[in-house]
Parts: sequence; C-alpha cells; structure tokens
Amino acid sequence: MSKNLVIGGGFYGCLVALELNKHGHQVILVESENDFMQRASYINQARIHQGYHYPRSFLTALRSRQNFTHFVKEFPECVDNSFDKYYAIAHQSKVSAVQFYKFCQRIGAPVSEAPDDIKKLFNRHLINDVFKVKEYAFDAVILKEIIATKLAKTDIDIRLNSTVIHIEKDVVVIQEGQNQKTITVDRIFNCTYSNLNRLIVDAKLEMIPLKHEYTEMALIEVPDPLKKVGITVMDGPFFSCMPFPSRKLHSLSHVRYTPHYHWVDREEKEYIHKSDSLYTAMIRDAARYLPLLMNSNYIESLWEIKTVLPQSEGDDSRPILFKESEKAPGVFSVMGGKIDNIIDIREQVQKVI
Ligand SMILES: Cc1cc2nc3c(=O)[nH]c(=O)nc-3n(C[C@H](O)[C@H](O)[C@H](O)COP(=O)(O)OP(=O)(O)OC[C@H]3O[C@@H](n4cnc5c(N)ncnc54)[C@H](O)[C@@H]3O)c2cc1C
Repeated sequence: MSKNLVIGGGFYGCLVALELNKHGHQVILVESENDFMQRASYINQARIHQGYHYPRSFLTALRSRQNFTHFVKEFPECVDNSFDKYYAIAHQSKVSAVQFYKFCQRIGAPVSEAPDDIKKLFNRHLINDVFKVKEYAFDAVILKEIIATKLAKTDIDIRLNSTVIHIEKDVVVIQEGQNQKTITVDRIFNCTYSNLNRLIVDAKLEMIPLKHEYTEMALIEVPDPLKKVGITVMDGPFFSCMPFPSRKLHSLSHVRYTPHYHWVDREEKEYIHKSDSLYTAMIRDAARYLPLLMNSNYIESLWEIKTVLPQSEGDDSRPILFKESEKAPGVFSVMGGKIDNIIDIREQVQKVI
C-alpha cells in the first residue's frame, strides 16, 4: 500500500483521492479553503458539455459525448435538465448553420430546428439559425455534497484550511494554521488548477505550459420567457447565458468580456490584480443578438482564474493534463480541463498506481 498526497480539494483532487482510496492506497488530501470545491469547481458556467461547443475539435466533441453520459449517470442528483438549450449560429460565426448541424449529426448529438417562438426572440439580422440541443447544467453545491459524502465514508486523511507550501520529490511541507508539518509520501498529485506551476517552480521541476485568464462571470435574473432556457451563441466572440443551478440564477459569460486579462506562467510569480466589472459591456453586446436580455437584473459577478493548456486555445478543446515529472518521478500534475472528464482522469490514475 503506497502513501499518496493529493494537493487541492477541487473536484479533480477529490476524484483522484477517491480513486486512490478505492484501490487500497493511503491518501492525504490537503485543501487551502475551509471546504471542498470552492474555487473553479464552483465558479464556472456549470455546463455539462455534450460536444456542441467544439465544432473545431472533433475528437474532443466525441469524447465529451461519452463523458457527458458517464457524468449524468454517476451524479444524477446534481444534474439540472429542467430547461431547454439552444445554440444560435451568428452570421459572423466561424462555422455556418449547416456546418454546425452536420457536425452535431456526425458526433451523434441531438439537434433539431428551434421552434418559431424561440427563433423570433433573436435578432435575425445577426443570427443565421437557431437549434434546439440537449445540454444540461450541474449544481456545483450538490456535486460538492455528493463528493463530501463519498469522502466521509473513506479513511482518507483530510486536511482543510491547510496549504502545501513546498514539495521536494517525496518530501512535502504543509502549513496548518501557525504550524508547518513535513511529511514523506510515495506519490504527489498536484491538483491545484490555476496554482499548478507555483509548487512546480518552487521545487525547480519542469513547468507546465499553461495560460491563465482572469475571468468574470455575471449572475443575472433573466426575464420570464428565458427562465427555463439556456442559450449559447456560436462560434466566435459571442456569449452564453444559461441556468446556474446552485444560485437559481442564470450565468452570463461573453467570449470578449469574460476574460479580463491573461498571462502565461513564467519563472517569476504572477500577481493577480482586481479589475472593474465589464457586465455592462457584456449585456449590451449580448442583447444585440437576443434583445430580451436587456430586461435582465444583474445580481453579482463571480471572479475566478481560468486555466487552459495552450494547445486547446485554437480550437477551444479541453484535453486533460496528467503528467509525471521527469526530474521527480512520482510527482504528477493533474488538470481535468472541464468538469466531466472523469473517465479520462480515473484511467490515468489507474495506470500509475
Ligand atoms: C469562468 C470559468 C468557466 C468554466 N466553465 C466550465 C463549464 O461550463 N463546464 C465545465 O465543465 N468546466 C468549466 N470550467 C472549467 C472547470 O471549472 C475546471 O476544469 C474544474 O473546475 C477544475 O477543477 P480542479 O479541481 O482542477 O480545480 P479547482 O476547483 O480550482 O481546485 C483546485 C483546488 O486547489 C486548492 N489549492 C491550490 N493551491 C493549493 C495548495 N498549495 N495547497 C492546498 N490546496 C491548494 C484550491 O483552493 C482549490 O480548491 C470553467 C472554468 C472557469 C474558471
């Protein structure tokens, strides 16, 4: 039985910890916050991807379809399928309406013509066509409760309010309140998402090429006709507005305004600076396509760092990262990319234990 440290109690850290435990390994799970899944695993658009988002990355789209099925089956309690989802294709889209429709058929994702009462909500001068699809949202708070319940049934050594401040091959320093503790483990799984490179740089290991965006997602109350509707305008500098189940609101993200600024990790540390909300710009532009949105009530913005692998930038795909350090075998960097990549991550864990 090996002794493993999992750093980060987001969805993926918890998933890795549970997988290790299931195979009989000893696990310590360390999370800086006072609860699991408080960072990107809560602050995200809550979309369970079905592939529709990736018309320029066929393999990601196909894999998304498989992951969707697994995720929905494994975590039904957190799945919100109580709304209708529409993808609208703008005239200036990078894909045409015909290409989008054929793409959905190729990956076997449900797609049909949107009803007229939905189509007429859109500005026909800017939107080419609208399709009804099958895409759900997840309630991140319920998902966290499911995960916390699973963890509570194991003998995983859980340390909340604790931060790993240094790793060196098999030696780890953990800050717990005023105390620093040094422990020795056989394997380290670094599941810290936007913080992945911090510990890596400190330990002088190989940096992972990551791009970070400081993002703003607005939470809004949409007017009645949109309450049970989710909308994504594709494919380019457009927007998504869909239910955010854990707050019973809608989230609004905009390709141009949600990322406020971006950076890539370098040897020196990057410091985040706060910026002013771009909600007004977001809603004004989104309402050009869907005028009714102008009658929404703004509630607040959620801010989080979104981290992507550079290779997924061009086609918006979200491959996973599961990489063992060459300089320090036994130290793994793990990133799920999107919330439903559960089979891929589990497969990788099983390969290395
Ligand atoms: C704006 C935005 C929108 C998104 N939309 C979607 C979407 O609609 N659908 C989708 O599937 N995905 C979406 N994603 C991606 C998704 O949120 C992430 O892929 C996923 O949540 C990452 O989970 P994680 O466990 O890797 O990261 P996190 O949930 O961020 O977990 C990392 C954890 O590590 C902890 N930590 C960091 N450093 C340390 C340390 N040194 N010691 C101890 N603990 C530490 C943090 O506190 C944190 O809890 C979105 C992301 C963002 C930011």
